[in-house]
Amino acid sequence: MSNVITRRDFMNGVAVSVLGAHVADGSPLTSQTVPLATSYPPARTGLRGSHVGSFEMAHALRDGQRPDLSAVALESRYDLVVVGGGLSGLAAAYFYRQRHPHATVLILESNDDFGGHAKRNEFEVDGKKLISYGGTQSIDGPQHKYSKAARKLLTELGVKLERFNTAYDSALFPKHGLKHGVFFKKEVFGEDRLVRQDFCAWDDFEETVSPGDEPKLRAYIDAIPISATARAQLYEMYTSNRDVLAGLSDAKRKHILQTTSCRDFLKTYWQADDEILNVLQTRTHSLWAVGIDAVPASATLALPGFRGLKERHEAPEEEPYIYHFPDGNASLARLLVRHLIPGAAPGQTMEDIVTAPFDYSRLDPPKGPVSLRLNSTALNVKNVEGGVEVAYSKAGTLHRVAAKHAVMACYHAMVPYLVDQGLDETQKKSLHDNVRAPLVYATLAVRNWVPWQKLGVAWITNPGGSFEASVDFPVSLGRYHFSHDPSEPVCLHLEHTPCASRSGLDMRSQYRIGRSWLYSASFDEIEAIIRDELQRMLGPGGFDYERDVAALTVNRWPHGYAYTPTPLFDDPDTQKLRAESAKRPIGRIAIAGSDSGWDAYTHTAFEEAHRAVLQLS
Ligand SMILES: Cc1cc2nc3c(=O)[nH]c(=O)nc-3n(C[C@H](O)[C@H](O)[C@H](O)COP(=O)(O)OP(=O)(O)OC[C@H]3O[C@@H](n4cnc5c(N)ncnc54)[C@H](O)[C@@H]3O)c2cc1C
Repeated sequence: MSNVITRRDFMNGVAVSVLGAHVADGSPLTSQTVPLATSYPPARTGLRGSHVGSFEMAHALRDGQRPDLSAVALESRYDLVVVGGGLSGLAAAYFYRQRHPHATVLILESNDDFGGHAKRNEFEVDGKKLISYGGTQSIDGPQHKYSKAARKLLTELGVKLERFNTAYDSALFPKHGLKHGVFFKKEVFGEDRLVRQDFCAWDDFEETVSPGDEPKLRAYIDAIPISATARAQLYEMYTSNRDVLAGLSDAKRKHILQTTSCRDFLKTYWQADDEILNVLQTRTHSLWAVGIDAVPASATLALPGFRGLKERHEAPEEEPYIYHFPDGNASLARLLVRHLIPGAAPGQTMEDIVTAPFDYSRLDPPKGPVSLRLNSTALNVKNVEGGVEVAYSKAGTLHRVAAKHAVMACYHAMVPYLVDQGLDETQKKSLHDNVRAPLVYATLAVRNWVPWQKLGVAWITNPGGSFEASVDFPVSLGRYHFSHDPSEPVCLHLEHTPCASRSGLDMRSQYRIGRSWLYSASFDEIEAIIRDELQRMLGPGGFDYERDVAALTVNRWPHGYAYTPTPLFDDPDTQKLRAESAKRPIGRIAIAGSDSGWDAYTHTAFEEAHRAVLQLS
């Protein structure tokens, strides 16, 4: 553990007891302490995301420790209770109130902040406020991926997409000559080496090589610490237009691409050297939370080895990846909350939401149509005569409320433990099959980004290691300004996918193993990995972890991305039935959440909330 971080956390923190006792046998579930740096959740550092105190009650329920609710009196009545204050739960409250303008709504959220994955991280470094994201990154493909309902919601919240054209400074990193970099770690590649990918722009996710860039591509490949034979083969895989599936029917090609992992495809059709597979292994981590051994080839057409396939050129065009608030989609959560509870924050635009001061003490007003109750874990949701009843725990005390309707906007896998009546075995199994992917998004507040400028990179992938690292997106909006001068403080974004890489296991099994590690890893352990890798990546640029890092927030997401089925592991017909049965309403209880769409996107969270509310009306 870094002395710097210890001192920082200790100075900022106060230890508080976060859990009380009320399982059926009366024994305490657990009693832990958690450092609370501040009463303002986004500014809390240390282990965030699924933080200590937010999940233990749910896990106890999963493990069969049912609370004794017999003596808990009914406290109040609402029109709607929403379980889960993530983007889907907040959107469900919004859509419900749109249909029933006088409705009263209670949103229960087990975390100490709202937004679910859409998490804001804030810091103050050398007198400058830094705002970043600890989860949901960007509005992805709003023109093409968003349904009418989801796009309408963005518009009603005041999001003007064209504003990002200037808010996002696409010229800044090119102006400083910053590119993509790849860090080859000694443990896998025999030596530590950072290689700049001069042949593509820093934000070129596809790493497209134009004929004019081929000398730069060769220079990049020549610098990779692998054998000369592997380098020659990798160059060919990047540039060759050979269609390795030539002569096969379209149906056969599709079948092969969908049911063969990328790793197996490259081995079978290119006899790709293991050294090359090591270079590419983690290229799918960010999107799929597993490596190329567990992602179908059909989803990796941008990688070397696929250039000659016609399928690569049939892929739909991507929109620019610029729709990013400084705190990611946490701003969408904030816009929703400000709309639902106007007293919680001033302002009315997408610009002023970025720095709008949120008064957390006003999220749950004694009087008011909408209450957002944090640190509150739903434990039981059931249909009763004329409505529903919901039991939950807050600060060690059990509560019971009634409502006309409920929306479950928590994780699918949790629903069978909460709604213990009315679910048949098929629905329970379908809900359990949505195994969310574990991820870590760490945000480091650093005093400057000079080392990045010196090394000429803005984003570093790390195929032999744990964390990818990048300078935060250069976005200035409202009164918030990105540090354009490299000598000024910025946030760094670090990303880790704790899957069981190269295990040969299916996606669900890899996620379960990763999740188990993530719940057991301490902040110290995670910080030690970050410090080691970042120092080795950026050290040659003059970076000194002890000196340059001002604060670290580790956002851990053991239940991260909703499970995305693929023909590699999921029979399409079975999956269709599974998806239909999982979101079937149970009486007056509807099921929302991105899990219902089996797709880890913000628009899915919105769309499923919209569908769930329609089912209740
Ligand atoms: C790291 C990461 C990055 C992402 N980046 C993007 C991106 O760039 N663009 C994009 O479109 N999508 C992105 N996604 C996906 C997107 O964030 C999700 O699809 C969306 O936020 C899910 O919203 P949700 O409300 O369905 O679920 P969640 O955000 O998981 O919210 C569910 C909420 O329910 C609460 N809860 C659970 N059980 C209980 C209980 N018993 N009682 C009370 N509360 C409970 C949880 O604490 C949580 O807050 C990302 C996801 C992750 C994890």
